[in-house]
Amino acid sequence: MQKQELLRGLPKVDEVMRQESLVMLAEEKGELLVTEAVRDVIAAKRNEILDLLEETVELFDTDSISIGNIASAAEELLVQKEKKKLFPVINATGTILHTNIGRAPLGQDVMDNVVKASTGYSSLEYNVSAGKRGSRHDLVGELIKELTGAEDAMVVNNNAAATMLVLATLGKGKEVVVSRGELVEIGGSFRIPDIMKQSGAYLTEVGTSNKTKISDYENVILTKDDVAKLEWDDLDRGMERFETGALMKVHKSNYDIIGFTEETTIEELAELGEKKGIPVIFDMGNGLMLDMSEYGLNEPTIPASLKAGADVVLFSGDKLLGGPQAGIIVGKREYIKAMKKHPLARALRVDKMTFAALEATLLKYRDPKLALRDIPVLRMIASSEEVLRERAERLIEAIKKANKDAVCEIVEVEDQIGGGSAPLVRLPGLAVYVQDGNKSADRTERKLRKAEIPVIARINDDRLLLCVRTITDDEIDLIAEALR
Ligand SMILES: *Cc1c(COP(=O)(O)O)cnc(C)c1O
Repeated sequence: MQKQELLRGLPKVDEVMRQESLVMLAEEKGELLVTEAVRDVIAAKRNEILDLLEETVELFDTDSISIGNIASAAEELLVQKEKKKLFPVINATGTILHTNIGRAPLGQDVMDNVVKASTGYSSLEYNVSAGKRGSRHDLVGELIKELTGAEDAMVVNNNAAATMLVLATLGKGKEVVVSRGELVEIGGSFRIPDIMKQSGAYLTEVGTSNKTKISDYENVILTKDDVAKLEWDDLDRGMERFETGALMKVHKSNYDIIGFTEETTIEELAELGEKKGIPVIFDMGNGLMLDMSEYGLNEPTIPASLKAGADVVLFSGDKLLGGPQAGIIVGKREYIKAMKKHPLARALRVDKMTFAALEATLLKYRDPKLALRDIPVLRMIASSEEVLRERAERLIEAIKKANKDAVCEIVEVEDQIGGGSAPLVRLPGLAVYVQDGNKSADRTERKLRKAEIPVIARINDDRLLLCVRTITDDEIDLIAEALR
């Protein structure tokens, strides 16, 4: 057969489009994309034929250019093109707030509320009972006040945005005092000194890396009058000084300083702030609402931080709070009011989907028992050994059914909170160690990642581990399937 003959054998686009399967597909997805897929497949086949050598022309599979096969190839191509870049994965790493795979997972009922509030119109900025304009700030304001004891609250895009807004509102053109032990880098490009610069506030570092005392803060505080009286000799290398705008404490979210150390408590800072009339900001980061010391989390909670006297407390919605990505600012009415009015507020505001997820999450906290049961992050932290062991046993059973070569064993592991929340906490966990025939751990890990719903596993000492704390019971069969 000649190339010309093969080319003449290529079907016309119209012919292929008349195939029953494509007629139906075009109804669902529209004619445009289906026609384009058919055209692409035919063009690819044409190029394939043109590239044939004299001696390979005979080997060409003429069946592949039948109308039916071109139609199936077009369908397949369309499926490929519609594959999402953002899709679910299964977290078998044992790290609960894993930054790379989406931090806090949300529960089904929280997502149901998102769908309900965003599919049609909503009360986002409309006060339905009064029949007039409302404010999105009021949507969760009351609830946050009830749960935390704060005078007021506002929600922005994430805690980085919250930090920016707080500093721009309270610290612009002023000095904000931070301990040298708390000049945190969270990850990406979020570093306290950089965000401070962006906000227009001037960072004043006090203390040393390991020790900062309350007197260190007190010694650098300047009023407007103090600044006016400063002489050249008072200045460090001539550096200009400004009045003190705030004292700021930053949670050491992803490191700790141990040994010969001293840090200042919120109480001490609050007392000093009050004496001098300067607000105290606490960037707590993790957003822990409930006392979870029972599980080894010896971190201050939001209500405790406010009670200790912080004027403004800010935290993420999707760390230990277990909700959607958000930055929540709580504290004194006058400060929050100023933030709501700041020009940045609109640039940093959140969407109705976030409010819907946040409100549904926060409602759980009205009963701590419900929060521990229904908020996935808290449920994972609080999982008992009994629950973990039962899940591990069911996972082993499912894997053995799917893969006769797999040898499994329950092993003890240390799970982590992760996500810049409680850096030193290790939760005693369980994992299923899988030896898939004679495959290396790396190879099994790759196989798991290639599954329809990829499974992200942990490798320890060349052993492939599936940590059960971060998987749900519904995912057991999917993991087993991935190992088939
Ligand atoms: C995580 C964290 C941030 C950043 O919060 P995002 O919600 O990730 O923007 C800022 N400060 C502290 C102390 C944090 O722990």
